[in-house]
Amino acid sequence: MAQSLPPIRVLPSTGRAPAALDLRDVRDRPLRDLRISVTDRCNFRCVYCMPKEIFGRDFQFRERDELLTFEEIERLARIAVGLGVRKLRITGGEPLLRRGIEDLVARLAAIRTPSGEAVDLALTTNGSALPVKAAALAAAGLQRVTISLDSLIEERFQAINDVKFPVKRVLAAIDAAAEAGLGPVKINTVLKRGVNDDEILDLAEHFRGTGHILRFIEFMDVGATNGWLLDDVVPSAEVVRRISERYPLEPAAPTHPGETAKRWKYVDGAGEIGVISSVTGAFCGDCSRARVSAEGQLYTCLFASSGLDLRELLRGDAGDEELSGILAQHWGLRDDNYSEIRAALTPGSRKRIEMSYIGG
Ligand code: SF4
Repeated sequence: MAQSLPPIRVLPSTGRAPAALDLRDVRDRPLRDLRISVTDRCNFRCVYCMPKEIFGRDFQFRERDELLTFEEIERLARIAVGLGVRKLRITGGEPLLRRGIEDLVARLAAIRTPSGEAVDLALTTNGSALPVKAAALAAAGLQRVTISLDSLIEERFQAINDVKFPVKRVLAAIDAAAEAGLGPVKINTVLKRGVNDDEILDLAEHFRGTGHILRFIEFMDVGATNGWLLDDVVPSAEVVRRISERYPLEPAAPTHPGETAKRWKYVDGAGEIGVISSVTGAFCGDCSRARVSAEGQLYTCLFASSGLDLRELLRGDAGDEELSGILAQHWGLRDDNYSEIRAALTPGSRKRIEMSYIGG
């Protein structure tokens, strides 16, 4: 089984707990965030992520036995935390569709870093099941949720999610999350020119002063099914300018290295917004994220073409030490920087994984 692995890139210990391995990739980026997709299924068909024409009735989703079990996910997360991961995010598809998700949350919430700290445990959801599940998820140890909401206009939102799911139920989900203590609740809005960019101010006004953090995401060319065009992208600088003209904003410091969103605070103290600028403000320089698909493929970039098959390793006879070595070697060889080179690439020249498959 074991192949001869080139030496792992590890910085000399800085006197921290001996197990605090400071793993770095080729660009000196640590592995800090692990995003774990637990299903490729979703009950929405958002047109920029899972268009019905492709993800229709006959689409072959992964069967249950193809998915990593909760034991396997827990083992993988434990090993990753041993290598430096401090933030675990559960994603999908729609993760709350996975039966017994509270059990997985409890398993991941129990993981401790080598020096005994809890890891940061978050989940990204469309909110559809949150009013029912928020309290149980919080009780199981979930700390925070991010909820997607691309419009406040009923008809438009139902057209974007393409399953006629109403806005008010997502707003109820946001309230349920806050009530359950899963805050500050982050709300993700993917902006597309001519579709919902006329709502930038309405969305900002709706969430100002609520304590929730609204983030505007530049429309990205993830996968190959969302018909991405550069002209459809609303640059984050424009978003900040349009809000600031009405409600002055000032830049705020990142909460941690490698944070995807740039934070902007309202000068009048009414809270903050975030902008995620993969197209006009690449942030590959300190990207510390790895992603695992529901069936156990490890990807070191959202725009990756291929992954490392961890399921085979998890179901084989590799011990934790060997698995840890393979993960460390894989990260050590990483040099991803798609957002930095996007403009130079010939359109269509690179196969990319689908957002719904890897969960963003
Ligand atoms: S494009 Fe890839 S390397 Fe760059 S920030 Fe996104 S996930 Fe990280």
